[in-house]
Amino acid sequence: MWDEWETDLRIYHECPFKSSSKIIAVPISLLITLRRIERMTNNEFLMYCDCEEKEGVIIVNNCHFPRQEVTTASVDVEEPSLKPVVIHRHPRGVHGFSGTDYEYINANHRISLLFVDGKIRKGVITEKMPCGIYMYVPINDDDIIYIFDKIDVDEDLIKQFNENVKVKVYHNIDYKEYYRHL
Ligand SMILES: [Zn+2]
Repeated sequence: MWDEWETDLRIYHECPFKSSSKIIAVPISLLITLRRIERMTNNEFLMYCDCEEKEGVIIVNNCHFPRQEVTTASVDVEEPSLKPVVIHRHPRGVHGFSGTDYEYINANHRISLLFVDGKIRKGVITEKMPCGIYMYVPINDDDIIYIFDKIDVDEDLIKQFNENVKVKVYHNIDYKEYYRHL
């Protein structure tokens, strides 16, 4: 046995290669638009965005709604994209990423942000470490800042939402009718 003082090992509390935490900058007009849409639906929805990085700040821009089918618990995107940023909404105050989110959303985009109850409250950035592995670096709401562009709803985005985000319709069998004929 030896004690810690004699090992000469440098023991870290977290990966020293991990880059310092990032700041994500979201335009105010996008926040206002998401809040408007949040009042229009109880369903999930998803949008893709571009981003640019300046001085360690990642600025989200050029957002759009791809064609998608949604329910209160799922999003099926018809036109998946490799855009670097994805923002999706969880209704009913679900503040965490689900297993499905990690598998289908977070793993396929550099930055994934979660919009819940009027704010972007959580996210992850997928980063390649110098040792070669990829890591999810968490983003908390403290890492998100809102930048002033215009205090106005983006009507083009609302229009796109209405055109591209469709509620999934389940065609249930009418069982009563079915059994009557047996
Ligand atoms: Zn989700």
